[in-house]
Amino acid sequence: MKIFDLNSSSLKYFDNLELLNFPENVRNTDNLVISPPFVDLHTHVRLNAQEDYESLSRAAIAGGFGVCNIQPNTVPKLESLEVLLKHVELSREKPVNFLHTISFFGEINDISTVDHVSNRITGFSTDGMRYDSKELYASFATKKAALLFDHSQLHEIPGDFYIGTQLPNSIRTYSNEAIAIFRTVLTGLEFGYTSFHIQHVSTATSLEVVQYLRRFANITCEVTPHHVFFTPDMISNTTQKINPPISKDREILREALRKGIIDCFATDHAPHNPKGDNFENAPYGSSHIEIAFSVYYTLFEDIELVLRNLTLNPLKVIKRSYEELGIKYPHDAVLIDASAEYTVDSSRFFSLGKNCAFDGYKLKGQVVGFRRNGRWVYWNGEFIDKAI
Ligand SMILES: [Zn+2]
Repeated sequence: MKIFDLNSSSLKYFDNLELLNFPENVRNTDNLVISPPFVDLHTHVRLNAQEDYESLSRAAIAGGFGVCNIQPNTVPKLESLEVLLKHVELSREKPVNFLHTISFFGEINDISTVDHVSNRITGFSTDGMRYDSKELYASFATKKAALLFDHSQLHEIPGDFYIGTQLPNSIRTYSNEAIAIFRTVLTGLEFGYTSFHIQHVSTATSLEVVQYLRRFANITCEVTPHHVFFTPDMISNTTQKINPPISKDREILREALRKGIIDCFATDHAPHNPKGDNFENAPYGSSHIEIAFSVYYTLFEDIELVLRNLTLNPLKVIKRSYEELGIKYPHDAVLIDASAEYTVDSSRFFSLGKNCAFDGYKLKGQVVGFRRNGRWVYWNGEFIDKAI
C-alpha cells in the first residue's frame, strides 16, 4: 500500500495497516493508496427539495471529498447574513467540511463582518450570477477587497456553445471568457483587489490572459473534469451542456495543468432535476462529484499529480491547512484503488442530481473508503456508519 505524504507531496510505501483499522481484511497491494480527503473549491448545493447538505455530504464522501467550497447561486442566493446563517446551520456537524463563498452582488460588503458566523468564508464569488460591467464596477466600488472567485463571462454576449461547433445556439464568441478575465482583474485592481481565483478555465486564450495578468495580481485558476475530458464533437445530450461550454482546447488545458499554469482541479458539481432533451431550455451543469477523481486519474494516469491537485493545491488557493479545517490525516483519509475500472451509472449516485455528463463512460481508479475521525464511514459503495 502507498500513502500520500503531505510534506513531500509524493507517495510513500506504507505497511502499518493495523493503524488504519479497516472494516475488513485488505490485501496489501501497490494499487491501494491512502490520501487526505479531497478539497473542492467549486461545489453547488441546491436546497428546496433538490441537492441539500445531506445528499451532497454523501455524494462528496463517495467521491472522496472532505472539503467543499459552496458557490452562492442557491435559492435564495447566498448574499445576506440571514441566508448565510441558514447555510451554516444546515451544513453544521456534517462529515464534510463546508466552506462558503458570498455573492459578489448582494448586501454583504465586508466579509470580515460576517466571518465570525462560520469562520468558513473563503471570499466573494460571481459564480452562477448573471451580471454586466456596470454591476461588476458597482460591486468593486462598494465591497471591501477579498479573494474573488470569478466565473468570468460576458453575459451580455449570448450563446450556449462556442462559435464553430455544430451544437444548438452555438454563437458565443470563443474570446468571451478571456475578455471577461481581463475585465474582472483590471477593474478589481483599480479598486484595491489583489487576489483572484478564475473558475473553470475553458480556453487556451484564457490561459494566456491569466499568465499575462499574473504580472499585476495574485491569480490562481482551476479546471474541471468536463473541460479536460470532452471536445465539442463528443457532446450528444443535454447533461453535457455546461457553462462555460466545452471548447476545442482540452489538450492545452491538460498540458497547462501538468505545467502548473492551472493551480488545481475543481468539480463544479452542478446537480439538476432531469434536463430533458431540448438543448436551448436545459440548465447548465453536470453532477459528478462522485466520479471526479476517476475522471482525472483516467486522463492523467499520474496518481501523485492527481492527488496534489485535489488536496494541497486547492488548499494553497484559499490559504488554509487541513489542521485549520479540523482534518487530521490519516485519522481522516480516503482509500483509493488505482487499478479498479468501472462504467459510470448516475442512477446509482448518492447525489440527488443524476444529470451526469460522464454517464456510460468507462473510468479508471476508484474511491473505496472514506475515514472520518478514525472510523471508516464509507466502504465499497455503501455507508457503513448509519448516522451519515
Ligand atoms: Zn459553478
